[in-house]
Amino acid sequence: MGRLYLSPPDMSGSERERLVAAFDSNWITTLGAEVDGFEADVVEFTGAPAALALSSGTAALHLALVVAGVRTGDEVWVSSLTFAAPAFAVTYVGASLRFVDSETETWNMDPDLLADALERAAAEGRLPAAVIVVDLYGQAAQLDRIAEVCARYGVTMIEDAAEALGATWSGRHAGTWGRLGVYSFNGNKIITTGGGGMLVGDPELLERARHLSQQAREPVLHYEHRSVGFNYRMPNLSAAIGRGQLADLPAKIARRHEINAGYRAGLADLPLECMPWDDRGVPNGWLTLVVLGDEVDLDPHRCCVLLDEHDVEARPAWKPMHLQPVFEGVPTEGGAVAEAIFDRGLCLPSGSAMTDGDVDRVVAALRLALSQG
Ligand SMILES: *Cc1c(COP(=O)(O)O)cnc(C)c1O
Repeated sequence: MGRLYLSPPDMSGSERERLVAAFDSNWITTLGAEVDGFEADVVEFTGAPAALALSSGTAALHLALVVAGVRTGDEVWVSSLTFAAPAFAVTYVGASLRFVDSETETWNMDPDLLADALERAAAEGRLPAAVIVVDLYGQAAQLDRIAEVCARYGVTMIEDAAEALGATWSGRHAGTWGRLGVYSFNGNKIITTGGGGMLVGDPELLERARHLSQQAREPVLHYEHRSVGFNYRMPNLSAAIGRGQLADLPAKIARRHEINAGYRAGLADLPLECMPWDDRGVPNGWLTLVVLGDEVDLDPHRCCVLLDEHDVEARPAWKPMHLQPVFEGVPTEGGAVAEAIFDRGLCLPSGSAMTDGDVDRVVAALRLALSQG
């Protein structure tokens, strides 16, 4: 029995052929038909107005902030319950942070809390330059409401859909609700290019981002630069893998839904609950999370240790940004919802290559862990 990882890469078959073809063409670096094709594929799949393939989701977040005009002295508000990348990106442009707590329906940024906080900020003349809303664990935030609130105050909305490619809210793709949106193709995401990301959204801003992402070289023969550039493009070889992965994304989403249903059925009688899925949207099922009931004596950390003894990789939920030592002192709107999820939340192996037998194995291991606790 092999180790069950949280979300390992799952190659579907066509990636290898595309990769070898790109290799044989000698277009192995940051320009080439696969990069152009991958961008076009993402536009077609998500309905985003334009796409720019980059070296990582973090690079995409950084460039999003740069082209949105965020700079030193500005404030950017970010979901507290998230992986740290969007908060890090804000520091790259010298802006300061404010974190916003989650609601309990999707676990994402609370639109009511955001609206109240923006109203106060507007009254005090300190509106943020941008809001980065994260779609957590493959489930979209209440994006229609977040977009409406941001529009009301003229604040740029950036959507971090790194974990949510293929998810929808109100029939529209996660990643396409803000002025700019971000996807990640890191190794543990629902599809991967080995490492990579995509910036989508406003075509004019994306043209500017495209220029900056290739060292801001002016279109002249000698090397001339009018702006500070970045080396953030995606290599053609990575894009070849990404195109094969994207073609299989609907099947991967369907499989992750089956795995989630398997967990819900297998764990139904235990004192825990699965992360709620709000029926206004369709998650991509990236990770299945459970929240341990109060009557369970174990904390998520101890649970991970016990599951590890059965070669099952599990992880606590993201540690909220407002509890991170590196962000000590950053002002935060609320925080209790994110803290409660972190205190009791556990991510289970959810890779699309898992068999039903693998799901049973995790269920059995978790059962045993809870009985030992
Ligand atoms: C993975 C992730 C990122 C970063 O993406 P990389 O491609 O690893 O740089 C950003 N935001 C969230 C919410 C993520 O989960």
